[in-house]
Amino acid sequence: MLRALVIGVLLASAPSAGVHARQEPPASPHGKMCPENCAKCGDAVKHALEFLTQHQDESGRIPMEKTGKRGANFTNMFKQAGDVMTTSLAGLAFLGAGNTTTAGPHREQVAKIKQYLSDLPRRRVNGDTWPAALALIFYSALHQKEKDAASKESMAKLVAFLSKQQSKQGGWSLGRAQGFMTEDTRNLTAAVNVCIFALGWARAAGAEVNPEVFERSKRFLEKTYRDDGWFNYMIKRDNGEPREGRAVAGLLALHYLGAAQEEKFAATYTFARRNMERVTSHHVPHLHLLLAGFAYRLLGAEDWEKFAQVFFDKLIACQGEDGGAKALFKFDRKIMMTIWTDHSFGPNYATAVLAALLQVPRYQFAPAPSKPARQEFMVK
Ligand SMILES: [Zn+2]
Repeated sequence: MLRALVIGVLLASAPSAGVHARQEPPASPHGKMCPENCAKCGDAVKHALEFLTQHQDESGRIPMEKTGKRGANFTNMFKQAGDVMTTSLAGLAFLGAGNTTTAGPHREQVAKIKQYLSDLPRRRVNGDTWPAALALIFYSALHQKEKDAASKESMAKLVAFLSKQQSKQGGWSLGRAQGFMTEDTRNLTAAVNVCIFALGWARAAGAEVNPEVFERSKRFLEKTYRDDGWFNYMIKRDNGEPREGRAVAGLLALHYLGAAQEEKFAATYTFARRNMERVTSHHVPHLHLLLAGFAYRLLGAEDWEKFAQVFFDKLIACQGEDGGAKALFKFDRKIMMTIWTDHSFGPNYATAVLAALLQVPRYQFAPAPSKPARQEFMVK
């Protein structure tokens, strides 16, 4: 105590100005109270929602307007999947700001999205694991606000669809698309993280989910877990990347699997927290960042504040005059040469991710844990 005081006094009296003094960047205004008491976040969300409203068509769809050659490749490969993903995320963003199908300035947008996504499991959508999971998240958030039968039925359909798509080993694939369905690609850690997040949120919203689905995925993550804190890309092997995104999304999944506090996964928190800034350094930076936002929020106010301070100013700076953001990250040629990337999913997608991410604390995506999600052994 005394020693700390002495050091404090010494530091306080050290010369602070001078030619060699390092210029500190201005402190980020973001913190524990974002977005409620933060004008910057509040304005960014408002303008983003206006932009998304402008881009909704009559059917309720907010299309993924893929940009560049890579975007065009994605269009051919995934067809409607991108539109479903973008519309679901935009729907989540409208809900965050207090809109429902009957209330709020964007009630018409929410009502149309609810309708547009309602026949999803019957549609043949290539690459359908992600779209189904994101649509389930939309319906879960909607059902928490208005407990109507239609949103409950949509939740139940999507829960049934995702449960059926789960492999015996507890994994998921990218979807039913031809060419993806090898034994290995039925079992992707990233798909497990997204599906368990969606199923966990649905359960929190009152949907019935077979506990065995969660049990199987827990065994899956035990198999892909590495003692240094991250998860292999798939059960049998790892492709080396993107470890940071998988680790932090894995932490989110572990919460719903009731395993976040198990000591065998303790290094995940340390690894994710140490690499917080690198979470966007791979081929799906938008989705990784969104999942990271939910994970850090779950871990507590301190982690959420750090996350907001690291990212929010940079993200909001990507927003244009019209409220839209072309993308939230620079295209990293070295990393993204050979694989598709959500960098090229276009402004509707990027803007929806931005608006949902800034509002993470407004969602009831998990029941309050009885114990803090972060354990004593998960120290920084
Ligand atoms: Zn803020």
